[in-house]
Amino acid sequence: MTLPDQTPFVPSEVEGYRPSEAEASNVAGSRLRSNLVPRLRSGRTDRGGKVTELAPLAPLVWFKSGGTAEWLFEPKDMADLQAFLRECDPATPVMALGLGSNMIVRDGGVPGVVVRLGKAFATARRRDETTLDCGGGASGILVSSTARDNGIAGLEFLRSIPGTVGGFVRMNGGAYGSEVRDVLIDCDVVLRSGELLTLPVADLHYTYRHSELPEGAIVVAARFRGRLGEPAAIQAEMDRISEAREASQPLRSKTGGSTFKNPEGHKAWQLVDQAGCRGLQIGGAQVSEKHTNFLINTGDATSADIEALGEEVRRRVKEMSGVDLEWEIQRVGMFAGASNKMRVGNK
Ligand SMILES: Cc1cc2nc3c(=O)[nH]c(=O)nc-3n(C[C@H](O)[C@H](O)[C@H](O)COP(=O)(O)OP(=O)(O)OC[C@H]3O[C@@H](n4cnc5c(N)ncnc54)[C@H](O)[C@@H]3O)c2cc1C
Repeated sequence: MTLPDQTPFVPSEVEGYRPSEAEASNVAGSRLRSNLVPRLRSGRTDRGGKVTELAPLAPLVWFKSGGTAEWLFEPKDMADLQAFLRECDPATPVMALGLGSNMIVRDGGVPGVVVRLGKAFATARRRDETTLDCGGGASGILVSSTARDNGIAGLEFLRSIPGTVGGFVRMNGGAYGSEVRDVLIDCDVVLRSGELLTLPVADLHYTYRHSELPEGAIVVAARFRGRLGEPAAIQAEMDRISEAREASQPLRSKTGGSTFKNPEGHKAWQLVDQAGCRGLQIGGAQVSEKHTNFLINTGDATSADIEALGEEVRRRVKEMSGVDLEWEIQRVGMFAGASNKMRVGNK
């Protein structure tokens, strides 16, 4: 089986942008590995999970761009997920996908298996008076509303992060002065081997928007601790956060959230703005006019356009301020052929 076009993509018209050595070797490695999924067939697993070959990922991610998953696996339940991973060739790369709200899926697609947790994992329930048990596929809205209904304060910030528990735990998602490491007790992960393991928060070695979750591990559940609170006050805080969001971020756009991590002592959006990148456009990708640390797909952007735009912003910021911006958005998969829509310039 082959993926569409696996030629490494170099947007040569964007001065200064070249895939790094690591990216280039990742591309080559992926091409080799992508034939290592011999036992899979599209259809249902014995336990009722769904396996799809060459599944388009663009509809499943916020940017609405990018290629296919070599295999997309939507487990029916935990036992299905464990059995699937146990039986899958150990050489097969496995990647979890949440709501794709922090992800660029490259146009050449993702080799191996992409795991997307469904309904069985979209749960949140009270454990005790300040603690919630959540499934790895539960949304921030579900978690924060369940906390409110049970009089648990401190999880309101999750209301505004459009992702799943798995993505929050992996990314140490945060907003308005709180982040996951402040509220996570522990999480359950299914390892690449199929083994189920509980990891206490300390084992994730959290730093800003980063965890040391084992490679290929799928977060299937997490326990969060808040504090006693009044549902009405919790709701008021959720409303305040939602309004602040609405005013400052392009929430109705095809975007990937904050593009770059805030460098020590700086705000990424300010550096991007100072470098003159507000509204900068490459193909169908644009630096948001509303929030300069957001990139948006204005309609027909390829993932190559979006990534090239991010690299161009990094180049300009480095030139202007000497700061190296680090990507926060996860860029996954392989490059495809060069886009014929490459243009650089402010709108
Ligand atoms: C409009 C907008 C606003 C945003 N605001 C914020 C913000 O304020 N704060 C913030 O922190 N982020 C923000 N983000 C980014 C994003 O919502 C978070 O990073 C979120 O945690 C991603 O969750 P997800 O489930 O969509 O993960 P995805 O984007 O699907 O994946 C992100 C990473 O998590 C991994 N992952 C996903 N699910 C699992 C799982 N079950 N097990 C293991 N790994 C998994 C993926 O492999 C990938 O590496 C924003 C995004 C958008 C579009």
